[in-house]
Amino acid sequence: MATATSIDPMSSTKTSLWQQTYLRQAGVFFAVIGAVAIALSLWSTWIAVVHTANARVVDSTAASNVAITAIFANHAWEGIDPLLPKGTVDEAGAKANPNLPAIDAIVRRFVDNTDIVKVKIFNLEGRTIYSSYAKQLGEDKASTSGFRGASAGRPTTEMSFRESFIGFDGEIRKGHIVSSYLPVLRSGQIVAIAEIYTDRTYEVDASNRQLDELLRELIAIFLGLFVVLLVFFRQVDKLRQRHTESLITVAEESRLARESAEQANSTKSQFLATMSHEIRTPMNGVIGMANLLLDTELNNEQRGFAQNIAVSGESLLAIINDILDLSKIEAGRMEFEAHAFSVHALGDAVASMLSVRVRQKRIDFRVDYGPETDGFFLGDGLRIRQILLNLAGNAVKFTEEGEVRVQVERQPDGLRFAVQDTGIGIPPEARERLFASFSQVDASTTRRFGGTGLGLAISKKLAEGMGGRIGVDSELGKGSCFWFELPLVPTAHPADASPAAATVNVKEPTGAGQLLLVEDNVINQKLALTLISRLGHSADLAENGVAAVKAASEKHYDLILMDMQMPEMDGLEATRAIRAGDGPNKATWIIALTANAMQSDQDACQAAGMNDFLSKPFNREGLAAALNRGLSASTS
Ligand code: ADP
Repeated sequence: MATATSIDPMSSTKTSLWQQTYLRQAGVFFAVIGAVAIALSLWSTWIAVVHTANARVVDSTAASNVAITAIFANHAWEGIDPLLPKGTVDEAGAKANPNLPAIDAIVRRFVDNTDIVKVKIFNLEGRTIYSSYAKQLGEDKASTSGFRGASAGRPTTEMSFRESFIGFDGEIRKGHIVSSYLPVLRSGQIVAIAEIYTDRTYEVDASNRQLDELLRELIAIFLGLFVVLLVFFRQVDKLRQRHTESLITVAEESRLARESAEQANSTKSQFLATMSHEIRTPMNGVIGMANLLLDTELNNEQRGFAQNIAVSGESLLAIINDILDLSKIEAGRMEFEAHAFSVHALGDAVASMLSVRVRQKRIDFRVDYGPETDGFFLGDGLRIRQILLNLAGNAVKFTEEGEVRVQVERQPDGLRFAVQDTGIGIPPEARERLFASFSQVDASTTRRFGGTGLGLAISKKLAEGMGGRIGVDSELGKGSCFWFELPLVPTAHPADASPAAATVNVKEPTGAGQLLLVEDNVINQKLALTLISRLGHSADLAENGVAAVKAASEKHYDLILMDMQMPEMDGLEATRAIRAGDGPNKATWIIALTANAMQSDQDACQAAGMNDFLSKPFNREGLAAALNRGLSASTS
């Protein structure tokens, strides 16, 4: 449908493709971030665990070193103290102490069978007065934090890994060495500071082996988690990909469906245009000939038959017009005009069009006009008349006794038309769908009353197309009230009134004219020529465009009736040729005669240079009015 909101399915796919790439990258990003975060937390946990394990080794060593120093002070100090230099001593003095071998012997005895690997003794000034590694004798340690801490009564212990550590006997080892600065206390007095080195390599290695095992387990768990994470994201990604693919498929399918719907719609419109042309041409013959027949001498039976032919033809034509209207509206090709029209003339025209049927059914029919409805309004009078005629026609059709009353009222923003009847009424459940195409209350209604179920659908679309609304109130068995409201403004320019609207002023015939009829269909030729002569005019005949151009170049005509579709040269081309040439009919009034009732055809006729348009099948009145318009325009 032309009016449908158009949503481009590809644009939404584009968005989702973009989103998909974005989401995939975001997925990878979060997977990496997650993995890094897990790895970092594992790493820091491991560092903390290692640190705690080492601290435990250091703490236990510190405690045992404190105990060892206490024992040392109590048992070994007595023997060592007299061998040490007293008072201030310098490096050389410390190295020169002759008692060093004796001290060394006592110390070695003391540490025998312990894991102590080195011992130093400092005097209270920080001078190294004994070291099991003789090279370090005499060093000044007064400024080290270990010495200062121990001098203040705070033993300090630390552990470090040594690539090469020289212990007793100058042996070199590699490992985790714990060293403690400890005060040597005698009777509560610090008499010296001892530094004791312990090899804790075995303990640290053992704990590291356990930690390594733990780390391996943690890494395995971490890798497992990571694999699970990866699989999860892959699955999510696959799902998303499938989703996108299906989106693309849907978009593609909907594009194809839309294209084929558009194709079908245009095929349908084309088909309807062709069909309406093909049906209208012979209908012109049927109705016209029946009317001609009715003008001849007939007995009553024959007259009845001829009337039936004419009436059947008219109703067939009405159905074709309905279908054509609907297809035009559905294709979005219905155009509304704005002319000044008289509501009273419009209502009266509807009443007179229905008068025969009203008389036959012996019901009352009246039209009431409310205040301020006289004068002219701006709108499409023909289309409004079509709606009113349809509603009033239905009311007459479905009312067996009583009355049909049409009311026209002014409203603040336009006009309201209401058609009230005392007919069969409509059950509530049927009211909504009545305005849908091909909808009737029930199948038996169709048989009893006839009809296509298109009238209300068309009326609704027309009313809404003009910015209004339509509806029904009804009581089953009592009657219905169909109404429509249109936003119409009054206008003060009746001069603009459409010639085709209800206010046509048909001028008196302007005397006999010499016409040229251009028509290829033999029956329609006969029909038109008969009607023309009955209207008091005479006509030459041209059976196609080529003959028409030739005839028009030879002789002046008062008016040309031009069929549109003809072999050899069509009406449009012939008109253009006549208008373009220098012949006597360059300015002659040309009326298009055509079974093509579409607006586009009328536009094409006008563009080719034609002056008026008469849709087939035409009747005597229609032709008379068109001829009068043309002849009075030509003479004025
Ligand atoms: P049609 O009259 O050609 O069938 P419409 O669209 O005009 O198509 O009407 C559809 C149906 O609505 C009718 O067949 C009839 O069943 C119901 N209807 C319309 N007008 C009236 C009315 N005034 N009273 C009762 N029924 C109505």
